[in-house]
Amino acid sequence: MHVRRRVQYDEVSVAARRPGGHPVGMSSRTDAVSGIDLSHLLDTAYRQARLGLDEGGIPIGAALFSAGGELLGEGRNRRVQHDDPSVHGETDAFRAAGRQRDYSSTIMVTTLAPCWYCSGLIRQFGIGAVVIGENRTFQGGEDWLAELGIPVTILDDQRCVTMMTEFIDAEPALWNEDIGVADEDGDEA
Ligand SMILES: [Zn+2]
Repeated sequence: MHVRRRVQYDEVSVAARRPGGHPVGMSSRTDAVSGIDLSHLLDTAYRQARLGLDEGGIPIGAALFSAGGELLGEGRNRRVQHDDPSVHGETDAFRAAGRQRDYSSTIMVTTLAPCWYCSGLIRQFGIGAVVIGENRTFQGGEDWLAELGIPVTILDDQRCVTMMTEFIDAEPALWNEDIGVADEDGDEA
C-alpha cells in the first residue's frame, strides 16, 4: 500500500522546507527529479489558482504529474464555485486525473501546503512526491508527509506567497471558513 517509487530529491530540499528557509537552488531541484523543472510544474498549479481567484473562489491550485512530468490532471479549490468544501485543489486535480494504476510514480504539485485532508489523500493513494509552492501563509501536513518518507519540496514561490497574502487580506472571512477557524466547529481546512 505504501510502497513508493523513489523520486530522489536532494537533502537540501528537505532542509529548506521550513517557512523562511532559503529557497533551494534550481539546479539541485532540477537534478533531483530526473531533470524536471519543478517551477515549471508549479506554473500549472498557479494558473489554476489564478483561475479560481478570477471565479471569485479561493486561489489554491494543484496538478498531478507523472514522474516524467506529464500532466495527468489539474484542478483548483472550488468551495465557493461549487458550494462544496470537499473540492480542494489537490482533490480536484486528483479526480481530474482519473484512475491511475500506480500513484507511487506521480507527483502532486500544489500552490499551498496541503491541508490534513489532502495530506491524507496523498498518503492514502501513495502519491510518490509532493511539490509545494509555499507554506508561509498556511502550514498543513507537509512535515507529517516528509516524516512518512514522502519527498516534499517547498519552492517558496513568491507568486504564490503574494497571491495568498493578498487574498487573505481581501477575504479574511472566506479564508477563515476554508481553514476552519470561522467558527468553533472544528471544521477541517
Ligand atoms: Zn486540502
